[in-house]
Amino acid sequence: MSILGKVVDTVEDNTVIISMHDISPVYEDDIVKSYDLLTDLGISSLTLLVTPFFGLKKSNKFTSRDIFSKYIRSLDLEISLHGFSHFAKSGSLNEFDKLTTDKATSRLKDGVSILKSGLGKIPVGFVPPTWETAPKIVKVVQQIGLDYCVNGNLIYDHVRVRVVQTADRIVSQGQRSLSIETALFEIELGGALQIGVHPSDYRMNDLFDLLAELKDRLGYRFIGFRDYLSSI
Ligand SMILES: [Zn+2]
Repeated sequence: MSILGKVVDTVEDNTVIISMHDISPVYEDDIVKSYDLLTDLGISSLTLLVTPFFGLKKSNKFTSRDIFSKYIRSLDLEISLHGFSHFAKSGSLNEFDKLTTDKATSRLKDGVSILKSGLGKIPVGFVPPTWETAPKIVKVVQQIGLDYCVNGNLIYDHVRVRVVQTADRIVSQGQRSLSIETALFEIELGGALQIGVHPSDYRMNDLFDLLAELKDRLGYRFIGFRDYLSSI
């Protein structure tokens, strides 16, 4: 398969590209707990998807003296940009698609600079809040110099100029029920997945049981976006 003239490679079987999304001071306690649970599972490579200004609430903006920023820095994990506020003006999660290219560019740049100054880290890539985005945003992400952009099951690697694809994805929103029916079919076949853990999953649903099963019984390995892209 080829997209925009680029060959699409499949992510290796039995791989989970794992991230925790909605990294924001608003979920501080749940993030600390979830990180510990992931560590207990032996997962050491993962990507933190950070939202610089969640819901445009002042207290959710990263600041360098904040103890939460220090905590995130201390984990020494890959971080990627996950929206700016995570919401469009209308309240939908589709933050960027209705913006002009110029507006989207400045919003993404603002996000990067909040993380640079407030968190002291530069995001490696971009994963949109809905996990899907318009093709123009994939381009903007490249133009502002980030290494990769996720769009659905596709991961656009701007550094190595290629696209890789997982068979499916499980992106939890931290709700009681988790819809994994289609992913289960792929799991049977050992297909590669992206899994986006939400900070509140451990007290809402059985996603962590699924992670344990994938790892211990089905032999999946877990790895963050940057680590996967640089390993192949
Ligand atoms: Zn999110």
